[in-house]
Amino acid sequence: MTPSEPVAGSAARPPVVAIVGRPNVGKSTLFNVLVRARRAIVDDTPGVTRDRVVAPATHAGRAFLCVDTGGLSSEPARRAGEIAAGVRAQALRAVAEADCVVCVVDGPAGLSPEDRETLRLLRRSGKPLVVAVNKLDTPARDALVADFYAAGVERPIGVSAAHGRGLDVLRDAIVATLPAGPGEAPAAEATRIALVGRPNVGKSSLLNRLLGDERTLVTARPGTTRDAIDTPIAAGGRSYVLIDTAGIRRRTHVKDPLEGHGAVRALGTLTRTDLVLVVLDATEGMTEQDARLVGRTRAAGRGCILLANKWDLVPPARRDPDAFRERLVAAHGAFASLPLLCVSAVTGEGLGALWPLVARVEQAYEVRLGTPELNRALADAVSSRPPPSPGGRALRFYYATQTGRRPPAITVFANVPDAVPAAYTRYLGARLAERFRLIGIPLDLRLRARRATERRPSRPRPPRARRAR
Ligand code: GDP
Ligand code: GDP
Repeated sequence: MTPSEPVAGSAARPPVVAIVGRPNVGKSTLFNVLVRARRAIVDDTPGVTRDRVVAPATHAGRAFLCVDTGGLSSEPARRAGEIAAGVRAQALRAVAEADCVVCVVDGPAGLSPEDRETLRLLRRSGKPLVVAVNKLDTPARDALVADFYAAGVERPIGVSAAHGRGLDVLRDAIVATLPAGPGEAPAAEATRIALVGRPNVGKSSLLNRLLGDERTLVTARPGTTRDAIDTPIAAGGRSYVLIDTAGIRRRTHVKDPLEGHGAVRALGTLTRTDLVLVVLDATEGMTEQDARLVGRTRAAGRGCILLANKWDLVPPARRDPDAFRERLVAAHGAFASLPLLCVSAVTGEGLGALWPLVARVEQAYEVRLGTPELNRALADAVSSRPPPSPGGRALRFYYATQTGRRPPAITVFANVPDAVPAAYTRYLGARLAERFRLIGIPLDLRLRARRATERRPSRPRPPRARRAR
């Protein structure tokens, strides 16, 4: 994108992201990678980028303007002279005009008193703030982020502007803070995700982790009541809508857990969502109430990921995800194929795997399967475990075709569908799900009758009574 191109296809001003930080932390380098160009001057001389440099950037379908400020040094100007004072004034102006501020700090150098003062100023500005801990060039340096976290910096994100590390996480965090511009409402096809679970399992803690601090959430989409309920979020380079976030945050202390803000409201939530993150308390395992919630999620045809939260509270001797899964499956065999992550909203452990997993479940939810591939998979499944012959009558499966999407439905044509045992239908569903890596979704497999003479249609016609979706 060049500066002359219209941004976000609207006349309104695109959101502005200001990059600030003390000299030499890597602001210009970061600016260059964010706008994917070499517009700013990178130089070892502190303060060499004197004027604000502005360039458009896009991420996850969102357009914004990136502003490289010369620096927001809180040190008195006397040390660095007049130029520094001017730069600081410019940077402050840039912050005032910004919708989001990225404060860059130098990871190996640690949090300096100057950084602290800058962060204090920025917090006071009330602008959504993202802290980029730069120069983490190798994985060995990633641990440095913890120092910033320990020093009270909220949501420090480790990056290496020079080596291209952590940048998508940073971009996601930036985009998540931006107000939606006109015509920039989340696209209709953005996958809608809900966090559900019993009271106290850690939904709102997880939400805070996923969204960042309160301010970020509030500025994410100001406006109508509807906006406050659902929150657009960018993660893994994709756009999502987290639904019913206001409901999770509302601190209702209802006595009866069944009627509380967990399970019952979740039922309404299920009708509006595509993918459900069912939160469990890892110290308790899956309770009956959790199992009912998962059952309803499946019955509603939604994608589902189990999050065993509070993993940090599980005693070290029992902190084995495989053993946790085995116990869960032993008690609830029907959920054996569900993706499960052991996570902690408090330490952040395990959450790095969340968005990649969401992307996989999303793929399964949206999958388009060609009839020839489906037929090969069906033939393989039938030949590796031939069907029984109830009442001496041979069961025949002719072909399969996809008859629904989001979630996927498959119809298999057979000679006597009514005679096929449910266990065999389940087997076929499981084999097809396995073959096409359809994880985390309830594959809807139906059987329909077709006479042997119709066995090889040149182009299989969909069944007349088609599923609505
Ligand atoms: P600014 O003054 O904050 O704009 O910083 P610059 O972008 O000009 O970078 C200052 C110095 O830090 C330059 O020598 C950059 O090459 C270097 N630098 C920037 N990003 C990184 C990084 O991720 N890792 C390392 N090792 N050096 C970096
Ligand atoms: P919600 O009712 O499901 O929204 O649960 P909250 O997010 O309010 O969490 C309930 C309690 O569990 C709070 O005291 C949280 O601090 C605590 N909590 C949530 N997640 C974790 C976690 O991963 N580890 C630990 N140790 N505590 C957690």
